[in-house]
Amino acid sequence: MTSIVPNLAEYEVWFLTGSQTLYGDEVLAQVAEQSQGVAAHLQNSDAVPVKVAWKPVQISREQIHATMLEANAAPNVIGVITWMHTFSPAKMWISGLQALTKPLLHLHTQANVELPWDTIDMDFMNLNQAAHGDREYAYIESRLGVPRTTVVGHASHASVQERVGDWTRAAAGAQAARSMKVARFGDNMRFVAVTEGDKTEAEAVFGAQINTWGVNELVERVNAATDAQVDALIAEYIDLYDVADELLPGAPRHQSLRDGAAIEVGLRAFLEEGGFTAFTDTFEDLGELKQLPGLAVQRLMADGYGFGAEGDWKTAMLVRIANVMGAGRPGGASLMEDYTYHLVEGKELTLGAHMLEVSPALSSAKARLEVHPLGIGGKEDPVRLVFTADAGPAVVVALSDMRDRFRLVVADVENVDLPQPMPNLPVGRAVWRSKPDFKTAATAWMMAGAAHHTAMSNQLSLQVIEDFARIMGVELVVIDDAATVSGIERSMRFNAAYFGSPGRR
Ligand code: MN
Repeated sequence: MTSIVPNLAEYEVWFLTGSQTLYGDEVLAQVAEQSQGVAAHLQNSDAVPVKVAWKPVQISREQIHATMLEANAAPNVIGVITWMHTFSPAKMWISGLQALTKPLLHLHTQANVELPWDTIDMDFMNLNQAAHGDREYAYIESRLGVPRTTVVGHASHASVQERVGDWTRAAAGAQAARSMKVARFGDNMRFVAVTEGDKTEAEAVFGAQINTWGVNELVERVNAATDAQVDALIAEYIDLYDVADELLPGAPRHQSLRDGAAIEVGLRAFLEEGGFTAFTDTFEDLGELKQLPGLAVQRLMADGYGFGAEGDWKTAMLVRIANVMGAGRPGGASLMEDYTYHLVEGKELTLGAHMLEVSPALSSAKARLEVHPLGIGGKEDPVRLVFTADAGPAVVVALSDMRDRFRLVVADVENVDLPQPMPNLPVGRAVWRSKPDFKTAATAWMMAGAAHHTAMSNQLSLQVIEDFARIMGVELVVIDDAATVSGIERSMRFNAAYFGSPGRR
């Protein structure tokens, strides 16, 4: 397996400290030293996965503007953290903030934790005045309407480090979106509404290029797979998975596994040659492919690719973005589909799955590799990995094109162990409990027009998704433990005003 999940430690966020020349060189030297200490708290924290690069104290409009342009141009810089150690008159920040195109975090902190009650004097007060320096700066951020995440507290505190870390993950997601190329094999499933959307607008909003190729271009790569390449994959499958006896070398259905492996070889070749990080296919347009890609798609998602079934490029984007934002944590991101319910009152559960394409990264157990018939698509029986997602917290995220804007909807869920075995259901699946309760969550989901396809991640908190939506400037509806139907309805009415559209009445 060849992971394309980035190593987040190779990304940087710049740490910019605001001050001014009024205080003299001695104070500025102290500001520099203390701000390096604040940056070091973040840099040395396991909760912050990227490099936090301290930059010289910013004391003039020209310097700030030049720094922001430099941050924009540096490919490995995914965001900027700002903190006003002293009083940094905020008109100095206008042109820099207007120039910045990368995600912004405003850290409201100070060098000391405790007030030195017995020694404090006016010199200390003048050095440590972020309490009002940051308010001056926040005014100009607000007046300019600069999208940013505000984090408050001492940089040595775990809660602050985790909050900053979540934002850096969202910034990495923005970077992934803006550099993304999505390959679509075939168009959307016929007659389906929610998987459609405006691909040009998606590039304008998210930065992702989304284009389509005839499936026969994929078939050429699959047919070019050599016996040696297929043999190497079969060995890897036998090593990683519990392979059904009938699929093993020499067994009656081994050819099905070889066909599935050839599809994986071809898909990887196509995606790598084109620099794609996400893709879609559709069971209605498989050309000469022998099987609907199942095993290959599952393994590619586990390696960090985005995928959407039935031409769903929006979900493919989300799965890729979630894979990047969750980098380095246990678990993964996957296409998911709300499939069917356990409707015992008060104990409702959702069974999520797809025809085949669920990422085995959602499970820490050894997956079983099996072959079974598929009722649709008219192809040979596809090979697939069968497993159940680990119990634990997860989020499901959907992206809808509302005609005048994109709407993200995220729900906080709790994956649970299977209440009973499901011996006759040969697909990867997750079973979850909704928050705050099934009826509220499903009502809110449908009021928001959210899709039946989602990206499920068991690596991300709601906070990361909220930061990502704020960075991208996209509407977000949050269904969490505190959600109420009336509150969601009200928030969507506010959103309609904020995003400048009355919507369709
Ligand atoms: Mn589907």
